[in-house]
Amino acid sequence: MIRFHNTLTGRLEEFTPLVPGRVSLYTCGPTVYHYAHIGNFRTFVFEDLLRRYLESRGYQVTHVMNVTDVDDKTIAGAIREKKSLGEYTSFYTQAFLDDMKTLHVLAPTIRPHATGEIPAMIRLIGDLEKKGIAYKAEDGSVYYRVSRFPGYGKLSKKKLDGNIAGARVDVDEYEKEEGADFVLWKAAKEGEPAWDSPWGRGRPGWHIECSAMCMRYLGETIDIHAGGEDLVFPHHENEIAQSEASTGKAFVRYWLHAKHLLVNGEKMSKSRGNFLTLRDLLDKGHDPMAIRLALMSVHYRASLNFTLDGLKEAREIIEKFDNCYSQCLSRLQLAAPGAGSELDLKGALEEIGTDLAEDLNVASALATLQKAVTEINAHLAQLSVTGLAGCVEFFRAVDRVFGFDIAAVAGIPADVKMVLSDYVEARKAKDFARSDALRKQIADQGWLVKDGRPGEPSSVKKIRRVWDVKK
Ligand code: AMP
Ligand code: ZN
Repeated sequence: MIRFHNTLTGRLEEFTPLVPGRVSLYTCGPTVYHYAHIGNFRTFVFEDLLRRYLESRGYQVTHVMNVTDVDDKTIAGAIREKKSLGEYTSFYTQAFLDDMKTLHVLAPTIRPHATGEIPAMIRLIGDLEKKGIAYKAEDGSVYYRVSRFPGYGKLSKKKLDGNIAGARVDVDEYEKEEGADFVLWKAAKEGEPAWDSPWGRGRPGWHIECSAMCMRYLGETIDIHAGGEDLVFPHHENEIAQSEASTGKAFVRYWLHAKHLLVNGEKMSKSRGNFLTLRDLLDKGHDPMAIRLALMSVHYRASLNFTLDGLKEAREIIEKFDNCYSQCLSRLQLAAPGAGSELDLKGALEEIGTDLAEDLNVASALATLQKAVTEINAHLAQLSVTGLAGCVEFFRAVDRVFGFDIAAVAGIPADVKMVLSDYVEARKAKDFARSDALRKQIADQGWLVKDGRPGEPSSVKKIRRVWDVKK
């Protein structure tokens, strides 16, 4: 049984998708006005774990993630840099996609861009207007009449204040204007990009983007909608109001929200200026998989205080996984092991699955994984061919769930094997000048030699992490 904490009910609930075997998942994508910071990536990595986990349990997940390429911030950025909106946002969209790839976040099944979905947004606003929920105000913009939706506030648990009738808010992001009518379509302003609509030229508000894209690609009721905790209000509250007022159906069955990544106890955000991008960390020589692990290592419903010590710890863990895997692969492919034992790793995999089934208890799952790796290390010398192959398979399964890319290297090339056997011979003959030259030759081929302890075979490891290059 899988259980998730549903923000809507405030409870842990058993997860059962609407259609057996299939999951519809919508995650709010980036607003592409800057490089995403690692706080943003904490949320994206959490969502990636969620999706990978569901897939590992046999669900076919249709994952939609939008790209917000028109809103207050993108327009302001384009104007500031004297670029067209498209020119400005396509640069940051590409940077975002590159960063997601670096962190091994799976690409969504569908990735709509807001500017490509304006007709669907206009249809939805038109429908809300027909139902008497959307109205055009004197300023030419169209607003959502919050008092007409009785369920307003059910996600964020905000209470509607009876005196707010007529209060309006026309910015995309706001905090305190509880219950204020929010903007669906903004009348065109001088110098801003605009599209034709039944209400005159203008552009959509941020909230309508997600309702329109989510329902267009996933249907009127979806299984899971996820994002960072700052999206609960107003963004997701408004998404519910827009979608449910239009369809009369429940919009989302499970709402999942990740707590913020903090720096010195404060939310990491662009507006506070306390942010680090992925590129900042990579430039300083940090490894993407250590960053990925650091971002996911704390439960998604607990705040994560980002520190370089935490990142160092994550690096050591990834290195341990990496070394164990390359030992297994080397022994399997170089040492021709004979009779020996096998390890039962199915139990560990099942335990990881059960840990994650409890609202993605990643700390437990990682502890189980670490215990299994310690166990493999302790038995390495006794493992048979089947035993070692089982370990390699284990790491592949681990990668599918955690996305760490430990088992990315499937085999040792024949030429590396040949040079390595010359190397071992040279060392046996104590011809160290030759063995050093051969070690260098192997390094030039992209592999690192690790000498075995007395009586142990030498092994090789593919050079692909930042710290391998430095060795
Ligand atoms: P944005 O590009 O601002 O729309 O944000 C993209 C995603 O990152 C959203 O799901 C936000 O909730 C999330 N987010 C923003 N700041 C943080 C943070 N400090 N920690 C975790 N998630 C964040
Ligand atoms: Zn959204």
